[in-house]
Amino acid sequence: MSILMKGADVANAMKEDLISRVECLKEKGTDPCLAIVRVGARPDDVSYERGAKKRMAAIGIECRIVELPEDIPQDEFIREFGKVNEDPSVHGILLFRPLPKHLDEEPIKAMIDPEKDMDCMSPINIAKVFAGDETGYAPCTAEAVMEMLDYYQIDPKGKNVTVVGRSMVVGKPLSMMLLKKHATITVCHTRTVDLPGVCAKADILVAAAGKARMITENMVGEGAVVADVGINVDEAGNLCGDVDFDAVEAKTSYISPVPRGVGSITTSVLAKHVVRAAERRSEMK
Ligand code: NDP
Repeated sequence: MSILMKGADVANAMKEDLISRVECLKEKGTDPCLAIVRVGARPDDVSYERGAKKRMAAIGIECRIVELPEDIPQDEFIREFGKVNEDPSVHGILLFRPLPKHLDEEPIKAMIDPEKDMDCMSPINIAKVFAGDETGYAPCTAEAVMEMLDYYQIDPKGKNVTVVGRSMVVGKPLSMMLLKKHATITVCHTRTVDLPGVCAKADILVAAAGKARMITENMVGEGAVVADVGINVDEAGNLCGDVDFDAVEAKTSYISPVPRGVGSITTSVLAKHVVRAAERRSEMK
């Protein structure tokens, strides 16, 4: 029988530890604070922001929203971002991306303080993920998959892991994090030949392609662990993952649903990053 990997269970387990760490920080005079920088009001951003605010409040982290007009000129945007970046009361920053088309995010990647960079924009944090150096901040979604595997005691060591997707937000960093845990990694993309055959050989299959229900029954091996990162809207307007859950579930040993899977863990990882950033700053005092 397949075990359902529920994001809420993982998030709850993380919450207890984070609450006690925040209490400890507050006793030492540090109030952890996350600043969310949002340009415009894309519905996806606003909805994620709502979830993040709720999660931070539940853990005792202050969450400041810096809302900037959608038509903000580049120089003003840089100035406003700079203010948040230099504000000593802010421990972590999350900038919603993609930015509106007229804005260039490259200068932001270069200027963001790597110690405040909670979702791996800075080349320094990206390099750390690729170097297997865990002192940086990995992308929250990629780390959410690692948290999920960890919670369900699924050790990637020695396993054949296939990751479908090679973006800098999910596929590539996640592959590096799994490699650090001694998995044997195959990264698939749109030019992969025989994607079904490659996926079917995986002990652990991670779908991060952004294509509704593209992982079908023939692409999953008997007893595989399947983690679904995709968030898609199908033709009927329903939220679904990259995995055809109903067709695949019976073959798996563990499977994560969409919604209520990996996506429910990302704000907990964000909180974990803020707590770590605040702890580091507190230690340096
Ligand atoms: P991108 O569009 O940046 O990357 C998608 C990747 O999947 C690309 O590498 C692409 O290959 C590959 N791909 C697309 N279609 C296929 C296919 N048919 N066969 C094989 N490979 C394919 O997406 P992201 O990485 O940003 O996001 C992936 C999914 O994860 C999306 O559904 C997104 O909504 C979701 N997501 C969820 C988050 C969460 O909080 N849970 C956060 C971030 C993302 P190629 O490189 O060749 O184009």
